[in-house]
Amino acid sequence: MFDLKNLLRENIANLKPYSSARDEYQGKEAVFLDANENPYGIKYNRYPDPLQREIKKIIAKQRNISDQQIFLGNGSDEPIDLIIRAFCEPGIDNIVAIEPTYGMYLVSADINHVEYNRVLLDKGFKLNSTKVLQACDKKTNLIFLCSPNNPTGNLLDPDEVRRLIQSFEGIVVLDEAYIDFSDNQGFLPFLNQFPNLVILQTFSKAWGMAAVRLGMAFASPSIIAILNRIKYPYNINQLTQEYVLESLHTIGNMKDQWVKTIKTNKVKLIRQLSEIPLVKEILPSDANFFLIRVNNPNELYTFLVQKKVIVRNRSSVAMCAGCLRITVGTEEENQYLVNCILEF
Ligand SMILES: *Cc1c(COP(=O)(O)O)cnc(C)c1O
Repeated sequence: MFDLKNLLRENIANLKPYSSARDEYQGKEAVFLDANENPYGIKYNRYPDPLQREIKKIIAKQRNISDQQIFLGNGSDEPIDLIIRAFCEPGIDNIVAIEPTYGMYLVSADINHVEYNRVLLDKGFKLNSTKVLQACDKKTNLIFLCSPNNPTGNLLDPDEVRRLIQSFEGIVVLDEAYIDFSDNQGFLPFLNQFPNLVILQTFSKAWGMAAVRLGMAFASPSIIAILNRIKYPYNINQLTQEYVLESLHTIGNMKDQWVKTIKTNKVKLIRQLSEIPLVKEILPSDANFFLIRVNNPNELYTFLVQKKVIVRNRSSVAMCAGCLRITVGTEEENQYLVNCILEF
């Protein structure tokens, strides 16, 4: 049985969190003499809302969930780290994750001194929930999944993901950074069915705001409350909060148009690349990037760098021998890439 209290580290359960001035009084119009700010400062002199309530209100409405089910972080990196810190006792508990996948889970596990065990995906980069469950033991508190997966690009079979969430007694973290590019709706509509699920999404990809650094975690109100207790008090600065609030209104429809254009560009780029003999394989992708397999990835990578085209060399990653990861760019950028590969 899933029991959140059992998973939570004891020191976190016993923690008395920092209570900021702006936690204790939440009104807007007041004489603020509580936070040692400079009253003469211009525009950014006041501490921001520690819980980013205005942004969450809009996201909650858009996604048809409660604002109590949303955590906002400094990129997705922040919730990845906080989840590990909250639920894995260093040197004792462990994490199971798929391989290959996004490198940040391992880095965060290493920083926190938490054992990280990898389960190779099946052929075609398919998730095998039985194999993942077999890799878990009594000390496995977290499973990391990424769908569509990075760097492979494919969506993980939702039935296998569901099976894992339902069979595992710890927390499943499902990273959906690229879900906007997929035809699948992802797991957010089913969040209420799974008390042990954390979904990660981000403003860095489809929303076009990687520099802003805003990541989202969606989970039960009890899990979100734990993350809020251990985060830095003012983790999302005022400039980010203002920019994102404005963008939620202005970019909303643009995002869907961008996704459509990127998907069209992707189809065209894949068609062009598939006609080049040195491209041995193009791996199926549900994201805004895909892997190509070539015989001499390092030489091609270096040649492209000389041409000032930067792709990601993934050829030393498990199951990705010979692979370069290509992000879909504008039509012009894609055409230039094709021309460079032809020249090579
Ligand atoms: C790009 C990416 C993210 C986004 O990270 P941010 O810190 O939000 O920019 C998260 N997960 C995966 C798998 C990614 O590829």
